Amino acid sequence: MDLYAGNTYWDKTLTSQFNFEKLSHNINSDILIIGAGISGALCAYILSSNGLKVTVIDKDKIGHGSTAANTGLLQYSSDKRISKLIKEKGLEDGVLFYKMCLEAMDKLTTIIDKLESETDYRLRDSINYASEKKDRKLLFKDYEYLSKFDFPVEFLENDELKEKYNINKTAALKTWHDAEVNPFKLVQALTKKNIVQGVKYYEHTEIDLDRIMDKQVHTKEGHKINYKSIILSTGYTKIYPVIEDKCITYRTYAFCSFPMNEHLWKDNAMIWETNIPYLYFRSTPDNRIIAGGLDEEINEIVYDEKKIMKKAEKIARKIENIFPHLHIDIQYAWNALFYGSKDGMPFIGRDPINPNLYYLLGYEGNGTCYSVAGSLILNDIIKGKKNIYENLVKVNRT
Ligand SMILES: Cc1cc2nc3c(=O)[nH]c(=O)nc-3n(C[C@H](O)[C@H](O)[C@H](O)COP(=O)(O)OP(=O)(O)OC[C@H]3O[C@@H](n4cnc5c(N)ncnc54)[C@H](O)[C@@H]3O)c2cc1C
Repeated sequence: MDLYAGNTYWDKTLTSQFNFEKLSHNINSDILIIGAGISGALCAYILSSNGLKVTVIDKDKIGHGSTAANTGLLQYSSDKRISKLIKEKGLEDGVLFYKMCLEAMDKLTTIIDKLESETDYRLRDSINYASEKKDRKLLFKDYEYLSKFDFPVEFLENDELKEKYNINKTAALKTWHDAEVNPFKLVQALTKKNIVQGVKYYEHTEIDLDRIMDKQVHTKEGHKINYKSIILSTGYTKIYPVIEDKCITYRTYAFCSFPMNEHLWKDNAMIWETNIPYLYFRSTPDNRIIAGGLDEEINEIVYDEKKIMKKAEKIARKIENIFPHLHIDIQYAWNALFYGSKDGMPFIGRDPINPNLYYLLGYEGNGTCYSVAGSLILNDIIKGKKNIYENLVKVNRT
């Protein structure tokens, strides 16, 4: 099953830095991570930084899964708005979840500081504007919760939004501690660091995920791997039985423009709206626009380039409606699978049956932020420490 189709952008910004061998014999591993996308890379970094011995295995090349299709907006605000989350999960859990995300964003900033290679990580403000006049109320409710619990947030009324950001909408929330990144460069940079920290990598090695045994897995070619703990960071390649009835599958569209001549918008903020599915967009260091949206609830991608481009054009015209001074020419356009969860939270934690099996599945739009939070949670669980967030995101939650 392909995770995306079309013409993606990030793989054009850097060629793969590594060629790891395929596994051709039996091995033993303390921590075995399956999947070398952004989740596997971050998890390997956090676990190896904490003294654990880690092996990472991917059936393809590292960073070529959904990570290559990711648009690289990193935000502490979740797709599930805080007021909605509080309504569904209660005040304590709603606030705790947002706290987990804010801490993960700050942790990611400290991780980036330690990497030697460029990742195009830039701290950015986010602007979440009201798509419709009636959404002002929704934004204000979120603002009240966020400000009450000291999250970095500001409420912008129409006049301020227009004056400062040139956006003519009723209102918006401004948040910060958010960032943009080139996810492909981030995986390569983390991998470089991970190797120095002793992490062992194998590429082109597929694990049989339907036959995970107590402390042993097999490659599709029949080699055995004995593990003490196994972490599945396989993204959207497989929906595991334990989360099957809790997730939602989508197809989503994205594009990257040619570099723009015009000044884009204030502070190159990352912009998204209150409508669902939402339009979202950001800039790149060479003044391109990357945008996405138009999610459809279907678990398959399209290969027809004309159809992909038509959707991308639709997204571009929406941006031009907000910023009429822009004329967007699309250079790359793609569509991809994208998985969410019914309660808006990712799936992270121990398998209810096999105590040595863990999931790191950052479902929902904030996948990267969740991967950081999830890696910290798994690090604690594996080390036998209690983590205050583990119950929120555990895979067998009701
Ligand atoms: C269009 C789009 C835009 C997005 N935008 C954002 C965004 O702006 N911000 C954000 O935070 N998130 C975003 N996301 C979500 C984000 O992409 C994902 O959460 C994240 O990339 C998933 O990374 P991952 O490492 O979990 O998965 P992947 O990158 O898919 O990595 C999983 C890896 O597992 C490997 N694998 C699978 N099965 C096996 C097996 N049996 N044996 C060995 N290896 C295996 C695969 O080869 C793959 O390399 C977006 C997603 C999409 C599709």
